[in-house]
Amino acid sequence: MKTANQPLLSLKGITKRFGALTAVNGVDLDVCPGEIVVIIGPSGSGKSTLLRSVNFLEEIEEGTITFEGNEIGYVKSKHGRRHLDAPAKICELRSEIGMVFQHFNLFPHMTVLGNVMEGPLTVQKKSPQAAREIALDMLAKVGLSDKRDVYPATLSGGQKQRVAIARALAMRPKLMLFDEPTSALDPELIGEVFDTIRSLGKEGMTMIIVTHQMGFAKEMADRVIFMEKGSFVAQGTPEDFFSNQMEHERIQSFLNRIM
Ligand code: ADP
Ligand code: MG
Repeated sequence: MKTANQPLLSLKGITKRFGALTAVNGVDLDVCPGEIVVIIGPSGSGKSTLLRSVNFLEEIEEGTITFEGNEIGYVKSKHGRRHLDAPAKICELRSEIGMVFQHFNLFPHMTVLGNVMEGPLTVQKKSPQAAREIALDMLAKVGLSDKRDVYPATLSGGQKQRVAIARALAMRPKLMLFDEPTSALDPELIGEVFDTIRSLGKEGMTMIIVTHQMGFAKEMADRVIFMEKGSFVAQGTPEDFFSNQMEHERIQSFLNRIM
């Protein structure tokens, strides 16, 4: 049943293994509507795998994912392997959870407008006219209306990432996942991508952001989570994290290394 303070996303005991390696180890996380959660942690700690699991790009071995009060079922096949039980439901959920990757993943053979229209057209089966209207709105939102007819190869990295954000937004997601959205960018291009993410935050978008940009985490996060070896080691407000209040040697040494 839906209640006012029900989390938008609730993860319980999420575990993902690759062979003998446990990449994500029993993670619990509730994200409330409008909340901005920033996940930090060393390379290889399972941050990407966790985000990919939330968006069903990875099949988890254990745990439950609940979105807007609906639990996503995993069932065991006769071979003992777990798999998602309702592909249609997953498809629908995927369109409600937008994801932006480090390496933009734009379609090179499509114009900017074509890239942003693609989801509404092919996944949501909107009419070309409706898809075009949504795409134009989203390009305006990220400040790239003037680039609609060019191909991705002619754009800067920052512009490509803003197109990738517009493309995700075109599906009208309720939750946005960002996996190191500025890691592939030259330093002078990071600001424009963060400005775009910041404006989404102001509109009340719920977001989970993996980033090494601590200034951004400090400014934007409602909650910062430190992940290490597949687990959440600590969480708190940005104030907790960045004012040397965290009595945790490993967090301090991580922060000292990247700041
Ligand atoms: P992070 O994003 O925090 O750097 P990842 O989630 O990418 O960490 O990776 C967590 C661990 O899982 C790493 O040890 C990585 O090598 C491993 N891993 C990630 N994806 C795969 C895969 N497809 N196959 C095997 N191992 C993987
Ligand atoms: Mg990663």
